[in-house]
Amino acid sequence: MPKRLGSKAMPTVMTIPVLRDNFVYLLIEGERAICIDAGEAGPVIAAIRDHKLTLDAILITHTHYDHIDGLTALHDQHPCPIMGPSDLDHPATIRHINDDTELVIDGATLQAIKTPGHCPHHFAYHTESILFSGDVLLTGACGRILGGTPSQLWQSLNRLMHLPADTKVYCGHEYTEDNLRFALSILPDDPAITQQLANIQARLSQGDPSGPVRLDDEIRTNIFLRSGNADVAQALNMANADAEQVFIELRRRKDHW
Ligand SMILES: [Zn+2]
Repeated sequence: MPKRLGSKAMPTVMTIPVLRDNFVYLLIEGERAICIDAGEAGPVIAAIRDHKLTLDAILITHTHYDHIDGLTALHDQHPCPIMGPSDLDHPATIRHINDDTELVIDGATLQAIKTPGHCPHHFAYHTESILFSGDVLLTGACGRILGGTPSQLWQSLNRLMHLPADTKVYCGHEYTEDNLRFALSILPDDPAITQQLANIQARLSQGDPSGPVRLDDEIRTNIFLRSGNADVAQALNMANADAEQVFIELRRRKDHW
């Protein structure tokens, strides 16, 4: 598991809502910050200014416009190294990531985890008990398949599921309530999902984002992560199917929901 070098302090995460329903995150330790994704620059620049932070790096999960549209403007204000997948096209990119990679940034260590499926080139970033899951693992569901394959997406989710149970998941979009409603359309009486929907609605009604969600809670309440469970297979009339087949059917149904 990645360890933080030179410091015992736990980093904190600032969640910055951008665009219609995207998130940018700042991983903060003291006055230093690492930015994850850059769908829009203005709110991120304001947060950096208001909290008197210095930006050490920008990490990109994937190159869909709603994750990189603010990159140039943010970098112009805060020149710093940019790291991201191999299809990231920005002249200040110091590292194109092709495979699992340990990133050491001013003493902070993050693990880039190769997670294709939503799109062909996607990375999640993990440090301490924090996971930035981009659009692969969305709280309550997973991303659509936009260039990757269902099998890749299932494998990627399985990798993330094996991180420590207390990992806090910070994902790319605020879709959680809708995702849980979809899950209840398949498993209407599921107590864990019903309770999670109530929890999330309470947070949203306070004006807070739905995340982060602990990974073990996510594994109990995200129907896509439960594709290997008998109750989900049964609900889809796929009792003899394997987990990946069940996952693919769930993804197909969600696309048409
Ligand atoms: Zn995306």
